[in-house]
Amino acid sequence: SLRRGHAVALDRVLTWDDIGGLDDVKQKITQTVLWPLERRAQLSRLGLTAPRGLLLYGPPGCSKTTFVRVLASHLKASFFTLSPADIFGSHVGEAEATIRGAFHRARLAAPSLLFLDEIDTLVGSRGLTGGSSGGGESDPTRERVLTTLLNEMDGIEGGGEGEALGKNVVVVAATNHPDRLDPALVRAGRLDRAVYVRAPDARERIAIFDVYLRRMPAVVTDAELMALAEEIPGATGADIENMCREAALACLRRGDPAVSAAHLREAKARWVPTLTREMVAYY
Ligand code: ATP
Repeated sequence: SLRRGHAVALDRVLTWDDIGGLDDVKQKITQTVLWPLERRAQLSRLGLTAPRGLLLYGPPGCSKTTFVRVLASHLKASFFTLSPADIFGSHVGEAEATIRGAFHRARLAAPSLLFLDEIDTLVGSRGLTGGSSGGGESDPTRERVLTTLLNEMDGIEGGGEGEALGKNVVVVAATNHPDRLDPALVRAGRLDRAVYVRAPDARERIAIFDVYLRRMPAVVTDAELMALAEEIPGATGADIENMCREAALACLRRGDPAVSAAHLREAKARWVPTLTREMVAYY
């Protein structure tokens, strides 16, 4: 039952409160994705155009995917997702059809949200020859995937003659490597807004501890939590979630009634940082 936190997180509706900190990011994402889908008429009355797509970028384990899951829970819109596994698991030539199928379904079900996970892995870069990051080979399949994706994103906008349902689709993409994206993808009318989902600062790390500790019997004071958060610069949300789970296991091992600062410190002692300084500076 100590794995409950994990299982519950998977099958219950996620809310903004499940993400600790990053209030400005929540606000930006709400304005960029929820408003265009749910308040389209109001926006256009004010002369505001809806963005076509949103790119979430930032280091791994800092809640990009979780943001999309919260959006999906919130939306009065259909939710579709496309990941590299969906595309490259298929046979040669099926990749493009898979993409077109996903966009087609999203258009039919509009208003809808289409999530493209690990988009850098999905598409590669057109005309990437001798690239700077070592992997300079240009892969014909990935180039075709990129072309298909660009066409489909442009197609959302136009909607096509008589295709009244062609409009209200928002694309959200996530990547750890924004620099590896083909510039054509982030042009106006495609992924034309970008939000940086950064690693949490000390105050936000406390908020993330709170998210997980409030789901378990815990006796940890604010001062203890503050001290702990200060001692783990570079910890991601995923690291902190993991520390709380480890602390719960320590609690169980010792037969204690509630998770305490001692359990958290035991977990922290075994923490191996997932982010390096270079990874954070990279953005
Ligand atoms: P990747 O780039 O590796 O896919 P990501 O940025 O999409 O990572 P998630 O998969 O959303 O990260 O997060 C990993 C785990 O860490 C999730 O279980 C998530 O709930 C947790 N997590 C990350 N950031 C936070 C946060 N700010 N508050 C609460 N939980 C968080």
